Amino acid sequence: MATRIRILPEQLANKIAAGEVVERPAAVVKELVENSLDAGAQEISVEIETGGKKSIRVSDDGCGLSREEALLALERHATSKLASDADLAAIATLGFRGEALPSIASVSRLTLASRERESVEGSEIYVEGGKIVSVKAHGMAAGTAIEVRNLFFNTPARLKFMRSAETEAGHVGELLTRLALSRPDVRMTYISDRRSQFRVLQGNLSDRVSSLLGSDVSQGLWPLETTEGSITVRGFISRPELSRSTTTYLYTYINGRFIRDRVVQHAILQAYRGVLERGRYPVVVLFMDIPPEEVDVNVHPTKHEVRFREQGRVHDVIQAAVENLLRTSPWTVRAAAASLTVASADRQLREARDTGVREALARYAALPVREQPSVFPVPPATSSRSFSSSVAQAAAPESMAGLPDNGGGYYSSLTVLGQFNAMYILCQDGTDLVLIDQHAAHERIAFQQLKAQFGQTGVEVQGLLFPETIELTFAESACVKEFADTLEKLGFELEAFGGTTSVIKGVPRMFAHLDYQRMLRDIVAELLQIGRSHAAVELADDLMACMACHSVVRGSRSLSVEEIRSLLRQMDQAEFAATCPHGRPVLCRFPLGDIERMFKRSKSGNP
Ligand code: ADP
Ligand code: MG
Repeated sequence: MATRIRILPEQLANKIAAGEVVERPAAVVKELVENSLDAGAQEISVEIETGGKKSIRVSDDGCGLSREEALLALERHATSKLASDADLAAIATLGFRGEALPSIASVSRLTLASRERESVEGSEIYVEGGKIVSVKAHGMAAGTAIEVRNLFFNTPARLKFMRSAETEAGHVGELLTRLALSRPDVRMTYISDRRSQFRVLQGNLSDRVSSLLGSDVSQGLWPLETTEGSITVRGFISRPELSRSTTTYLYTYINGRFIRDRVVQHAILQAYRGVLERGRYPVVVLFMDIPPEEVDVNVHPTKHEVRFREQGRVHDVIQAAVENLLRTSPWTVRAAAASLTVASADRQLREARDTGVREALARYAALPVREQPSVFPVPPATSSRSFSSSVAQAAAPESMAGLPDNGGGYYSSLTVLGQFNAMYILCQDGTDLVLIDQHAAHERIAFQQLKAQFGQTGVEVQGLLFPETIELTFAESACVKEFADTLEKLGFELEAFGGTTSVIKGVPRMFAHLDYQRMLRDIVAELLQIGRSHAAVELADDLMACMACHSVVRGSRSLSVEEIRSLLRQMDQAEFAATCPHGRPVLCRFPLGDIERMFKRSKSGNP
């Protein structure tokens, strides 16, 4: 069949582009607000009706457009933000493709009104389904106001895909939250069906976070700022006790642009792995500043994805920045912390002990690393007397004097009151009652020690008696060659066999009895995607967490004051000391006020 090739009419091309850029009302709002920000607006207001399906109106006090510019802006590939090829390599504005306005105009009834500061009057252009219907003079304040009515009125297929007004309004709200977090210097208002959803004033990031995400969330956040070479990471990350069940609260930005990027997300979650339970996600608002030439934002029309020139390095810098803060857990020192809950502890432990890990444990237990002295040695006979008497003698004078144990760290600074049910240590911190789960604390210490040993001895390789072949895809095989060194460090000895097949000659001893082919594939998949692989480290950590759990005393156990002190001192040495290796909290805090309320006492402490 003979086909005739022809160039698409401009209006049809715009409609096709709209398919990518404008998928729902929130996408329209995104494009319009980004244009306002690029135009240097100080104040932006967004008003929608029926979730944006009926109308979307975005107005700003930015630089405005002349009539000629406004007409041009409605044409495809018209942009004021790029002039040359070179500009594309270092984009500093949110927009640059010159596609949004013509795309939106082609699938709606759009009114663009704009006035430059220096002109006496503005212009108003009305476009219907991409056709300019009218152009006239318009009196208005300097700036731009764009109204989009009846979105998708001429694309019935898209119209059907829109959800309820509430759902669409929710998407708009989420989108505006992302944008508003990125520019605390710009005032923003969001109105839906004539009801104000939020109004944020100029301020700093911290103000903006608390007005948009709520004061509960902002109290659980901790500031972070690190520069490593050409990369700066700054913003807020949540303490482990503030977590969510989805990744919605990962607000991540590259050079001021909100992105949802695998590399960035992976780096953050990796840093939280040891302190959050599986299936829980942190809240973060993090801005990564990277030289524009090292990141490509022109990957997708919505610009939510990016490519890094050195993704592995970006990954490491972000992970290290977050992890370093979590490691020191500065918030444990602050007495203001809220009490923690231990709700999902059981589920956690069950998860951590899945069969694979248990088998691995049995095997790994035979290795010399296990022969280290127990983290918490069985106390000599003298100290095994009942706890209450020893505490009564040792702790009473100290708590009366109000002097903390001078171990230096937070845990050592607690005043020990006693032990409850031979499972929990009772302490006082100022006017807070602090309960410490001794098993969780032991686990954390044992885990850190195992990790330190693992770090010293490195990965032991076990040669395979019968080398195995593994068939890879072209991409995987290229990756195996590129990262041969990395794989070797992880304990995998591989040799090219021909084509895309490799021979496995040696595997990490720790995983020798597990499905190491799958392990290897996981590692390669990660190397392909992220440029780094943590699969091996992750499994090793799981094994060690499990070993730690089994190596320490479980259930109840009376402790002498010396033992408690020693435990607290060791906790001060441990990293990530606020949680056990499975992510359960080590301590809970009960402020005096809460206890007084429980006893229906007034604040003044009257009986
Ligand atoms: P892009 O943002 O990729 O340049 P758009 O189609 O979104 O493409 O916008 C086209 C052009 O219209 C922009 O480059 C800008 O010059 C102009 N423009 C759009 N919105 C505004 C606004 N609110 N204020 C001033 N100029 C605007
Ligand atoms: Mg734009």
